[in-house]
Amino acid sequence: MEFRLNEEQRAWQMIARKFAEDEIRKISVARDAIEDPRATFDWEIIRKGSELGLRTLGVPKVWGGPEVDFTTQAVVMAELARGDSAIAKTFSQCWKWCHLIMDRCTPEQQERYLKPFIADHAFVLGGGITEPNAGSDNRLPPLDAPKTGLRLSGVADGDGWRLNGEKCFIANANIAKLIFVFTRTNPEVAVRQGTTIFAVQMPHEGVRVGKVFNKDGWRFYQNAELIFENARVAQSDMMGKLHGAMSHHGGKNAKFAELEYSANAVGVCDAAVEMAMRHARSETRGGRPLADQQTVQLQLSEMNMVTEALRSFMLRVATESDDEGDEHFAHSHFLMNFATEAIQRVCNLNQVIHGYADGRASAAADKLVRDAIIWTHIAGDAVQKMKAVSFLLK
Ligand SMILES: Cc1cc2nc3c(=O)[nH]c(=O)nc-3n(C[C@H](O)[C@H](O)[C@H](O)COP(=O)(O)OP(=O)(O)OC[C@H]3O[C@@H](n4cnc5c(N)ncnc54)[C@H](O)[C@@H]3O)c2cc1C
Repeated sequence: MEFRLNEEQRAWQMIARKFAEDEIRKISVARDAIEDPRATFDWEIIRKGSELGLRTLGVPKVWGGPEVDFTTQAVVMAELARGDSAIAKTFSQCWKWCHLIMDRCTPEQQERYLKPFIADHAFVLGGGITEPNAGSDNRLPPLDAPKTGLRLSGVADGDGWRLNGEKCFIANANIAKLIFVFTRTNPEVAVRQGTTIFAVQMPHEGVRVGKVFNKDGWRFYQNAELIFENARVAQSDMMGKLHGAMSHHGGKNAKFAELEYSANAVGVCDAAVEMAMRHARSETRGGRPLADQQTVQLQLSEMNMVTEALRSFMLRVATESDDEGDEHFAHSHFLMNFATEAIQRVCNLNQVIHGYADGRASAAADKLVRDAIIWTHIAGDAVQKMKAVSFLLK
């Protein structure tokens, strides 16, 4: 399998690399240090990236976007994440929901949702699945258990629907202009058979933003509660089929999910390796440069080895995702599991090499460790995600 990037992929990679080096890096550690989780966000960096096309990368040509393949999205994501993982994710969160719009919406809905999104640099998207008692259970549900999974209810009401319930940890919930809300439209059957997606324009009567979560890592990235109190949505904002939210198989949104996080992890590992190599070359302990000491060399070797293995695996899954067929599916889940272990190992080693008393450099190393913890809890918890082999056992 060949991983050489073509001209277009390489051009996007360079745009992202330059943006990360010139703009993202210089605000990353300072934004991370802000105490109030609502104040860590910065519209200016989103506007600058949006002007380069980085907010709308998931939009196809027919609606005015660049229509790039999965490999391009993956390499762009890795470059952005090398600058800051959470800022990178704020951009790619928009690509992810654009894929859902293309997978599930009618052409009329696509036009209605994507035109204003394209036109406005301050338009970001969100999607609400998780609830206080339903995280992993929404993703690997016991197939025949109606009591598991999300409970936010959607009840038919004339020519529309009434939504009641609560979502938590929803990315961009406090800043998004459009949020895709997964609702239980039939609570008598399992979540996979009884869930429907509605597009909710924000702000929206009957929808309140609750607390913004004060996370250890990805502090730039906004995660908030959303409370629905008799919120009315129109029938025309139902995405896809009634009860069809989770019975839909394949599509761009599904192909993107694990690849997105894994590509982001590659960027974080690259940042950790660069930091550790620089630090080892410049610092002296015990009368010798750290780089001359065998224990540090072993650690640096491991960091490089794990990062390159992750990059190769990521490019393989990206290539498979661009091909027809579903070869990518089990591989992308294994990739995500490997990315979780790789990013945490590499960032921990970087922190070990830095120690804890070196001011700004160790603050940056500490940030990467805190960002890496996110992989344990994202898109289903890491323990539950080890069930990925079930895709092969069917
Ligand atoms: C930074 C960040 C951004 C996020 N963004 C979004 C977003 O935009 N939209 C969204 O909808 N969600 C979002 N989430 C939520 C994320 O999807 C959930 O955190 C994830 O699904 C895990 O759910 P949980 O944290 O509730 O843990 P749980 O799944 O509740 O797991 C808690 C514990 O219970 C165990 N467990 C879970 N299920 C089972 C089971 N069936 N059998 C046995 N043990 C089990 C787990 O192994 C774990 O030990 C985000 C989370 C983070 C951290």
